Amino acid sequence: MRRDELTANLAAVRTRIERACDAAGRDPAEVTLIVVTKYFPVSDVLLLHDLGVRDFGENRDQEAGPKFGEARSELRRRGGDDLTLHFIGQLQSNKAGHVAAYADVVQSVDRSKLVGALSRGADHAGRPLAVLLQVSLDGDTARGGVLPEHALELADEVVAHDALTLKGVMAVAPLGAAPDESFRRLRDVADGIRSQHVDADWISAGMSGDLEAAVLNGATHLRVGTAILGSRPSLL
Ligand SMILES: *Cc1c(COP(=O)(O)O)cnc(C)c1O
Repeated sequence: MRRDELTANLAAVRTRIERACDAAGRDPAEVTLIVVTKYFPVSDVLLLHDLGVRDFGENRDQEAGPKFGEARSELRRRGGDDLTLHFIGQLQSNKAGHVAAYADVVQSVDRSKLVGALSRGADHAGRPLAVLLQVSLDGDTARGGVLPEHALELADEVVAHDALTLKGVMAVAPLGAAPDESFRRLRDVADGIRSQHVDADWISAGMSGDLEAAVLNGATHLRVGTAILGSRPSLL
Protein backbone atom coordinates (compact mmCIF):
# COMPACT_ATOMS: atom_id res chain seq x y z
CA MET A 1 0.00 0.00 0.00
CA ARG A 2 1.16 3.49 -0.83
CA ARG A 3 0.63 4.67 2.74
CA ASP A 4 2.97 1.97 4.12
CA GLU A 5 5.59 2.78 1.52
CA LEU A 6 5.51 6.49 2.31
CA THR A 7 5.55 5.78 6.06
CA ALA A 8 8.66 3.60 5.76
CA ASN A 9 10.49 5.99 3.42
CA LEU A 10 9.70 8.98 5.57
CA ALA A 11 10.97 7.18 8.68
CA ALA A 12 14.19 6.22 6.88
CA VAL A 13 14.80 9.82 5.80
CA ARG A 14 14.08 11.13 9.28
CA THR A 15 16.60 8.64 10.67
CA ARG A 16 19.21 9.85 8.17
CA ILE A 17 18.56 13.44 9.25
CA GLU A 18 18.88 12.51 12.93
CA ARG A 19 22.16 10.69 12.34
CA ALA A 20 23.54 13.57 10.31
CA CYS A 21 22.53 16.01 13.04
CA ASP A 22 24.19 13.78 15.65
CA ALA A 23 27.39 13.74 13.63
CA ALA A 24 27.27 17.52 13.21
CA GLY A 25 26.36 18.19 16.84
CA ARG A 26 23.09 19.80 15.77
CA ASP A 27 19.55 19.56 17.06
CA PRO A 28 17.22 17.88 14.50
CA ALA A 29 14.59 20.46 15.46
CA GLU A 30 16.70 23.05 13.58
CA VAL A 31 16.20 21.18 10.32
CA THR A 32 12.95 21.31 8.34
CA LEU A 33 12.21 18.51 5.92
CA ILE A 34 10.48 19.72 2.76
CA VAL A 35 9.00 16.83 0.80
CA VAL A 36 9.22 17.47 -2.94
CA THR A 37 6.05 16.06 -4.51
CA LYS A 38 6.61 17.09 -8.13
CA TYR A 39 5.22 14.53 -10.63
CA PHE A 40 3.29 12.80 -7.82
CA PRO A 41 -0.47 13.07 -7.31
CA VAL A 42 -2.44 15.07 -4.78
CA SER A 43 -3.32 11.77 -3.04
CA ASP A 44 0.35 11.48 -2.03
CA VAL A 45 0.32 15.04 -0.71
CA LEU A 46 -2.68 14.20 1.47
CA LEU A 47 -1.14 10.94 2.71
CA LEU A 48 2.08 12.74 3.60
CA HIS A 49 0.10 15.42 5.41
CA ASP A 50 -1.61 12.65 7.34
CA LEU A 51 1.85 11.33 8.25
CA GLY A 52 2.83 14.69 9.70
CA VAL A 53 4.50 16.44 6.77
CA ARG A 54 3.64 20.15 6.60
CA ASP A 55 6.29 21.50 4.18
CA PHE A 56 6.01 20.62 0.50
CA GLY A 57 8.09 21.55 -2.52
CA GLU A 58 7.09 21.87 -6.17
CA ASN A 59 9.00 23.14 -9.18
CA ARG A 60 6.49 23.76 -12.00
CA ASP A 61 3.74 26.34 -11.89
CA GLN A 62 1.37 24.48 -14.20
CA GLU A 63 1.51 21.41 -11.96
CA ALA A 64 1.81 23.01 -8.53
CA GLY A 65 -1.07 25.49 -8.89
CA PRO A 66 -3.89 22.99 -9.53
CA LYS A 67 -2.41 20.24 -7.31
CA PHE A 68 -2.07 22.43 -4.24
CA GLY A 69 -5.34 24.24 -4.91
CA GLU A 70 -6.94 20.84 -4.61
CA ALA A 71 -4.83 19.78 -1.60
CA ARG A 72 -5.61 22.97 0.29
CA SER A 73 -9.36 22.78 -0.30
CA GLU A 74 -9.42 19.14 0.81
CA LEU A 75 -7.46 20.05 3.95
CA ARG A 76 -9.86 22.91 4.69
CA ARG A 77 -12.71 20.44 4.35
CA ARG A 78 -10.93 18.21 6.88
CA GLY A 79 -10.53 21.04 9.33
CA GLY A 80 -7.62 23.24 8.33
CA ASP A 81 -5.07 24.03 5.68
CA ASP A 82 -1.81 24.21 7.62
CA LEU A 83 0.66 23.35 4.88
CA THR A 84 3.56 25.46 3.66
CA LEU A 85 4.25 25.31 -0.05
CA HIS A 86 7.78 26.04 -1.25
CA PHE A 87 8.23 26.84 -4.93
CA ILE A 88 11.71 25.54 -5.83
CA GLY A 89 11.88 25.62 -9.64
CA GLN A 90 13.12 28.07 -12.20
CA LEU A 91 10.50 30.73 -12.64
CA GLN A 92 9.71 33.04 -15.54
CA SER A 93 8.68 36.51 -14.42
CA ASN A 94 5.40 36.30 -16.36
CA LYS A 95 4.41 33.35 -14.12
CA ALA A 96 5.55 34.99 -10.89
CA GLY A 97 2.23 36.67 -10.15
CA HIS A 98 0.46 33.35 -10.42
CA VAL A 99 2.92 31.56 -8.13
CA ALA A 100 2.73 34.38 -5.55
CA ALA A 101 -1.00 33.70 -5.26
CA TYR A 102 -0.59 30.13 -3.92
CA ALA A 103 3.00 29.56 -2.75
CA ASP A 104 4.17 30.55 0.73
CA VAL A 105 7.86 30.57 -0.10
CA VAL A 106 9.67 31.06 -3.40
CA GLN A 107 13.16 29.58 -3.06
CA SER A 108 14.37 30.24 -6.60
CA VAL A 109 14.70 34.01 -6.72
CA ASP A 110 17.80 34.83 -8.75
CA ARG A 111 17.25 38.16 -10.55
CA SER A 112 15.79 41.65 -10.14
CA LYS A 113 13.02 41.21 -12.64
CA LEU A 114 11.66 38.30 -10.63
CA VAL A 115 11.81 40.27 -7.37
CA GLY A 116 9.62 43.02 -8.84
CA ALA A 117 7.17 40.56 -10.38
CA LEU A 118 6.80 38.52 -7.17
CA SER A 119 6.33 41.66 -5.12
CA ARG A 120 3.53 42.87 -7.40
CA GLY A 121 1.98 39.38 -7.35
CA ALA A 122 2.06 39.15 -3.55
CA ASP A 123 0.60 42.65 -3.25
CA HIS A 124 -2.15 41.79 -5.67
CA ALA A 125 -2.94 38.51 -3.89
CA GLY A 126 -2.89 40.26 -0.53
CA ARG A 127 -0.70 37.61 1.07
CA PRO A 128 2.87 37.76 2.37
CA LEU A 129 5.55 35.92 0.44
CA ALA A 130 8.80 34.57 1.85
CA VAL A 131 11.77 34.54 -0.47
CA LEU A 132 15.08 32.68 -0.69
CA LEU A 133 17.83 33.65 -3.08
CA GLN A 134 18.94 30.77 -5.24
CA VAL A 135 22.72 30.84 -5.46
CA SER A 136 24.65 29.39 -8.38
CA LEU A 137 27.61 27.48 -6.97
CA ASP A 138 29.31 26.60 -10.26
CA GLY A 139 28.92 29.86 -12.17
CA ASP A 140 26.54 28.22 -14.63
CA THR A 141 23.60 30.59 -14.20
CA ALA A 142 21.74 28.93 -17.09
CA ARG A 143 20.58 26.37 -14.51
CA GLY A 144 19.30 29.16 -12.28
CA GLY A 145 20.87 31.03 -9.43
CA VAL A 146 22.56 34.34 -8.76
CA LEU A 147 26.35 34.42 -8.65
CA PRO A 148 27.70 34.55 -5.07
CA GLU A 149 29.26 37.98 -5.70
CA HIS A 150 25.86 39.44 -6.67
CA ALA A 151 23.81 37.80 -3.93
CA LEU A 152 24.04 40.60 -1.39
CA GLU A 153 22.94 43.19 -3.93
CA LEU A 154 19.89 41.08 -4.76
CA ALA A 155 19.17 40.59 -1.05
CA ASP A 156 19.07 44.37 -0.62
CA GLU A 157 16.55 44.59 -3.46
CA VAL A 158 14.27 41.99 -1.88
CA VAL A 159 14.14 43.74 1.48
CA ALA A 160 13.16 47.00 -0.23
CA HIS A 161 9.80 45.35 -1.08
CA ASP A 162 7.25 45.34 1.74
CA ALA A 163 5.33 42.42 0.26
CA LEU A 164 8.42 40.15 0.40
CA THR A 165 10.31 38.73 3.37
CA LEU A 166 13.90 37.69 2.80
CA LYS A 167 14.47 34.37 4.55
CA GLY A 168 17.86 33.22 3.28
CA VAL A 169 19.46 31.22 0.50
CA MET A 170 18.95 28.05 -1.50
CA ALA A 171 21.22 26.03 -3.78
CA VAL A 172 21.44 22.78 -5.67
CA ALA A 173 24.85 21.14 -5.48
CA PRO A 174 26.42 21.24 -8.97
CA LEU A 175 26.59 17.90 -10.75
CA GLY A 176 29.99 16.30 -10.49
CA ALA A 177 31.20 18.54 -7.66
CA ALA A 178 31.75 17.35 -4.09
CA PRO A 179 28.54 18.34 -2.25
CA ASP A 180 30.45 19.03 0.95
CA GLU A 181 32.57 21.70 -0.71
CA SER A 182 29.57 23.20 -2.55
CA PHE A 183 27.49 23.47 0.61
CA ARG A 184 30.43 25.01 2.46
CA ARG A 185 30.49 27.74 -0.18
CA LEU A 186 26.75 28.22 0.17
CA ARG A 187 27.20 28.67 3.90
CA ASP A 188 29.75 31.43 3.25
CA VAL A 189 27.25 33.24 1.01
CA ALA A 190 24.55 32.76 3.66
CA ASP A 191 26.84 34.22 6.34
CA GLY A 192 27.53 37.26 4.16
CA ILE A 193 23.83 37.94 3.68
CA ARG A 194 23.01 37.33 7.33
CA SER A 195 25.65 39.83 8.40
CA GLN A 196 23.47 42.51 6.74
CA HIS A 197 20.03 40.94 7.15
CA VAL A 198 20.01 39.13 10.49
CA ASP A 199 16.65 37.42 10.04
CA ALA A 200 17.63 35.79 6.75
CA ASP A 201 18.89 32.64 8.45
CA TRP A 202 17.52 29.84 6.29
CA ILE A 203 19.86 27.67 4.25
CA SER A 204 17.96 25.38 1.88
CA ALA A 205 20.38 22.72 0.67
CA GLY A 206 20.50 18.98 0.34
CA MET A 207 18.33 16.52 -1.55
CA SER A 208 17.89 12.73 -1.46
CA GLY A 209 21.51 12.04 -2.37
CA ASP A 210 23.38 14.66 -0.38
CA LEU A 211 21.35 15.63 2.66
CA GLU A 212 24.09 14.54 5.09
CA ALA A 213 26.61 16.95 3.54
CA ALA A 214 24.00 19.71 3.72
CA VAL A 215 23.26 19.10 7.41
CA LEU A 216 26.98 19.11 8.16
CA ASN A 217 27.25 22.53 6.50
CA GLY A 218 24.42 24.22 8.33
CA ALA A 219 21.36 23.51 6.18
CA THR A 220 18.11 24.48 7.90
CA HIS A 221 15.88 23.14 5.14
CA LEU A 222 16.26 19.93 3.11
CA ARG A 223 14.34 19.28 -0.11
CA VAL A 224 13.78 15.55 -0.48
CA GLY A 225 11.79 13.88 -3.26
CA THR A 226 12.98 10.52 -4.54
CA ALA A 227 14.01 9.04 -1.18
CA ILE A 228 10.43 9.47 0.04
CA LEU A 229 8.19 9.20 -3.03
CA GLY A 230 10.29 6.93 -5.24
CA SER A 231 11.57 7.53 -8.76
CA ARG A 232 9.78 10.14 -10.76
CA PRO A 233 8.24 9.09 -14.06
CA SER A 234 10.52 10.31 -16.84
CA LEU A 235 7.70 11.59 -19.04
CA LEU A 236 5.78 14.84 -18.38
C1 LIG B 1 13.37 17.77 -7.57
C2 LIG B 1 14.13 18.68 -6.70
C3 LIG B 1 14.58 18.27 -5.42
C4 LIG B 1 14.38 16.87 -4.89
O1 LIG B 1 15.34 16.02 -5.45
P1 LIG B 1 15.47 14.46 -5.06
O2 LIG B 1 16.80 14.08 -5.58
O3 LIG B 1 14.34 13.77 -5.72
O4 LIG B 1 15.38 14.38 -3.58
C5 LIG B 1 15.24 19.20 -4.65
N1 LIG B 1 15.47 20.46 -5.08
C6 LIG B 1 15.06 20.90 -6.29
C7 LIG B 1 15.34 22.30 -6.70
C8 LIG B 1 14.38 20.02 -7.14
O5 LIG B 1 13.97 20.46 -8.34
